[in-house]
Amino acid sequence: MRVTRCISSAGTRPGRYIDRVSDLADIGVIGGSGFYEFLESRDEFELETPYGRPSDLVAVGKIGGKRVAFVPRHGRDHRFPPHKIPYRANLWALRSIGVRQVLAPNAVGSLTPSYGPGTLAVPDQLVNRTTGRTQTFYEAGGAVHVQFADPYCPVGRARAIRAAQATGWEPVTSGTLVVIDGPRFSTRAESRWYAAQGWTLIGMTGHPEAVLARELALCYTSIALVTDTDAGVEEGDGVTQDEVFRVFAANTARLRELVIRVIEELPPERDCPCPHALDGLKLPLALP
Ligand SMILES: [Zn+2]
Repeated sequence: MRVTRCISSAGTRPGRYIDRVSDLADIGVIGGSGFYEFLESRDEFELETPYGRPSDLVAVGKIGGKRVAFVPRHGRDHRFPPHKIPYRANLWALRSIGVRQVLAPNAVGSLTPSYGPGTLAVPDQLVNRTTGRTQTFYEAGGAVHVQFADPYCPVGRARAIRAAQATGWEPVTSGTLVVIDGPRFSTRAESRWYAAQGWTLIGMTGHPEAVLARELALCYTSIALVTDTDAGVEEGDGVTQDEVFRVFAANTARLRELVIRVIEELPPERDCPCPHALDGLKLPLALP
């Protein structure tokens, strides 16, 4: 991976870190652009990976003494729709600078009337309904079949739930997130069908982000904020983009506080299955 630019807010000289970029951060956050501000003095890196550039500059700073990197999933100006996000570059870039634990706050719809807008959920399962998104790093040189029965880090989930409870949320502590391509929202029939399967949350970015993290042996925890009830849940006009953005904006500060709390709660040493995701597998490429 190459660093093509470094912008520092802490008085360090641009380029200073270029030769030791592999150990900059331990925890990564992929989220909305409202998260830049949560990093105390930060450096920003323009990174180039074998899979292209990440969604935007990667910001690196400290939170509660921990080294944290942030990538705005859709780009700072929200230029990438869900199906165009450079998922592989984002995850590869994070791993390349040392990140091993990833938190993924994201906006979702609810498929259950009891989870209204403003509900926080920490899903434990995922259903992929996207098509045409590259969902692996291992495309040549032999098959690499990672385990994905439990797509999220159990320790990350437990810490996220605990942090949410400690900061005044009443989090939904499990649930199945179905990921659709978008960018359009669901029809009522689709939404009713998803709900009938027992799936509780719906989003457009949770896949392939989660599986790419697993393929790099990273911990990955989804922290989902319900912004709307999907089309099938109510008899109203269905979900609109305005509604989603409004509810998300109204909860950004709260969500940011929560993510900071989760970062503080994450253990410094990983004691979960995630680091072993690639044990015994023959990899056709060297991981950063
Ligand atoms: Zn883990």
